[in-house]
Amino acid sequence: MREEFARSGAVGTAGGSAMSLAAPTILEHGSDDVRGRLLRPAITGEHTWCQLFSEPGSGSDLAGLTTRADRDGDEWVVSGQKVWNTGAVKADYGMLLARTDWDVPKHRGITWFALPMRQPGVEVRPLRQMNDYSSFNEVFLSDARVPHANVVGEVGGGWAVALTTLMFERTMAAARLAFVPEAAAGRCAAEARAEAEAYAQTYVWYPQRAGRADLVAAAHSDDPVTRQRIAQVVVRERTMRWNAARAQAARRQGRPPGPEGSLAKLAASEVARLSAQAHTALHGAHAMLAGDVVHEILVSVPAVSIAGGTDEVQHNIIGERVLGLPKEPSADADVPFREVRRN
Ligand SMILES: Cc1cc2nc3c(=O)[nH]c(=O)nc-3n(C[C@H](O)[C@H](O)[C@H](O)COP(=O)(O)OP(=O)(O)OC[C@H]3O[C@@H](n4cnc5c(N)ncnc54)[C@H](O)[C@@H]3O)c2cc1C
Repeated sequence: MREEFARSGAVGTAGGSAMSLAAPTILEHGSDDVRGRLLRPAITGEHTWCQLFSEPGSGSDLAGLTTRADRDGDEWVVSGQKVWNTGAVKADYGMLLARTDWDVPKHRGITWFALPMRQPGVEVRPLRQMNDYSSFNEVFLSDARVPHANVVGEVGGGWAVALTTLMFERTMAAARLAFVPEAAAGRCAAEARAEAEAYAQTYVWYPQRAGRADLVAAAHSDDPVTRQRIAQVVVRERTMRWNAARAQAARRQGRPPGPEGSLAKLAASEVARLSAQAHTALHGAHAMLAGDVVHEILVSVPAVSIAGGTDEVQHNIIGERVLGLPKEPSADADVPFREVRRN
């Protein structure tokens, strides 16, 4: 699709989590009404979105979330706290997971909502990161309101909807930014370019968090061990791209995203780490100097192994769904959530 936009010099669809997470999730699970109201503004870039999944007490154990939503007529009233929410400070809508039933096991009492962010019950506080950027936020929800019409999927069926969002997240790495082809000229293109640039501020450090394998590949060293490290990065990075292309081809054939998302995420994490090690070998102690791009890479790379589900969680998914290993034992998967011990 992007190639066609580029060929005609036209401004393409918006990028970011609206286009790469919210839109495909709504397309797969939303009612006709939700699709009719929310898809178009997500695609044009009129609405920006953030993901309100993680909480201080539930990241890897996402199904243990405790933000609550209670029905009040045609609306739901939401209270709780979310954290690490990228871009929330600028978002119009949040992909919200909240608990709507406390008397069923944890995976069955969750609902996926499209939460309007610009309302008094939603307070967004930016967090400062160790690489000095401030992309993610804490979000405090105090009697925030969301129309019942904004439930995506079934009430209590939000876990399946969330898995769809997460599978798209694990395969999206390269689809972050709005798309304005180089050749596009005129006022529309200039405005789209300016908007894309403002939006992209949240993600300026993302190339560094991916490890900048391109800089490693272009580097020279007389040290044979360092040269081996460089070769290793190039090989892994290229294999990762081919695997990503294979997953995209499967999607084009209509197959839903599957565990290959976990493989892609793990590969990205490994490339980032290997690249960071190669940068360190190439630059020595200079790599630690603040202000240098290599320094930014070193303090940004750890994020890849955490965002969208940690490496350990991806290993568990691959073990269970690809290799058919027994499921991790769980003491709380079958008991009503109200009775689950939690801090
Ligand atoms: C750059 C970045 C952007 C993010 N953006 C968003 C966002 O927009 N929206 C959002 O909702 N969240 C976002 N997150 C949060 C992210 O999804 C969570 O940080 C992640 O799921 C891990 O949860 P946690 O931080 O609570 O760690 P924990 O779950 O507390 O994990 C701590 C450690 O324990 C390990 N561990 C936990 N459970 C298991 C297990 N069962 N088996 C083996 N090891 C285990 C983990 O691998 C990890 O090493 C973002 C995070 C980052 C770094």
